[in-house]
Amino acid sequence: MSKLETSLIHEGEQFNTTNSVVAPIYQTSTYFADEDIASFAHAATAPKYPEFYHRHGNPTNSQVAAVIARLEKTEDALVLATGMAAISTAMLAAVQAGDHVIIQYAHYSAVLMFAREFLQQYGVEVSHVDQTDNAAFEKAIRPNTKLIYIETPSNPNLDITDLEFIGKLGRDKGIMTMIDNTFASPINQTPTDYGIDVVVHSATKYLGGHSDLTAGAICGTKDFVEKAWRRSLVLGASLSPFDSWLLLRGLKTLALRVRQINENALTLAQWLTKQPLIQKVNYVGLPSHPQHELAKKQMHGFTGMLCIEVAGDNDAVQFERAQHILNNLNVFSNAVSLGGVESLIAHPASMWGASQTEEQRKKSDITTGLLRISVGIEHIDDLIADFEQAFKKI
Ligand SMILES: *Cc1c(COP(=O)(O)O)cnc(C)c1O
Repeated sequence: MSKLETSLIHEGEQFNTTNSVVAPIYQTSTYFADEDIASFAHAATAPKYPEFYHRHGNPTNSQVAAVIARLEKTEDALVLATGMAAISTAMLAAVQAGDHVIIQYAHYSAVLMFAREFLQQYGVEVSHVDQTDNAAFEKAIRPNTKLIYIETPSNPNLDITDLEFIGKLGRDKGIMTMIDNTFASPINQTPTDYGIDVVVHSATKYLGGHSDLTAGAICGTKDFVEKAWRRSLVLGASLSPFDSWLLLRGLKTLALRVRQINENALTLAQWLTKQPLIQKVNYVGLPSHPQHELAKKQMHGFTGMLCIEVAGDNDAVQFERAQHILNNLNVFSNAVSLGGVESLIAHPASMWGASQTEEQRKKSDITTGLLRISVGIEHIDDLIADFEQAFKKI
């Protein structure tokens, strides 16, 4: 197997059957059948067949999936239209009515909605646990537990789940383990090294890396990916040819981007800890993070995601200052999403105002003064200078 940086450029090239160095965009919904009916029948039924009908597969989707499977060290992968398409399809491939799923309190908000409003309505039991408490996962296991679903570092508070513990727990108890590896990216964290079975991604974020597409990925054994593919045939969230092509292009620089982002984020986090207007900096790369040692053990880098809490005696002051900072930053754009080359900043308490109750928000520590930052690859001096001038205006 080639080194990761080489795989990012060359993995899956066999799916480009033309002579072009860069794979063309296969902008087509359907493909000419081979002469004989037997091969047509094969194309119609073979999993992820790249040249039959778009919902079944597409050559670029196969090439991208090969790259992502290599990154996550899994047998196979399936790419879909969004991260949520990947997550919901993967979960529906893992459980059915009567089964029980263990998930965390802190997850990407649409995942919490999926668990609360969808899985339970369709007869799947769901238990939430504190991800920082290993024993809680074990205690939550029931005879019908079929899936442990984790996210680490979690969105937005960057809590860490112990991968080695979860991987082992799943193996010992014969329960499938699945992780949302979006925040870390495969450059910073390889969950299959710890025995995690399935890795899902919002490829909209670091994998794509340029905030110009939405995509998702499911990585696992050949059998599981095939099962997920069968679900995707009826759920129908296929990744479009152009978005797939953009994702393939973005992936080529993943290692370079993520390393630069890691470096920028650490420097920015260290600088922010010294600012009187910021009362807390939450970054897994800082020794002040309560789970820094665990992060050091299971991650190769600490990501571009950090949260800061604006100082203030009460909610109203914090809110006003947070608003002021957001308005005055110029290099950082106030926008949702993350993982792109450009730095973004968002206010989680308002971002999820509609999808979470006050109590759920408190449970996941989303305070009024909290700002979530996704650090990009701009020059670090400009990122720091941007905060400096915004602070001066308060
Ligand atoms: C964005 C995100 C998702 C959802 O991905 P989409 O591409 O927006 O559907 C899931 N999990 C995490 C951690 C995310 O950041």
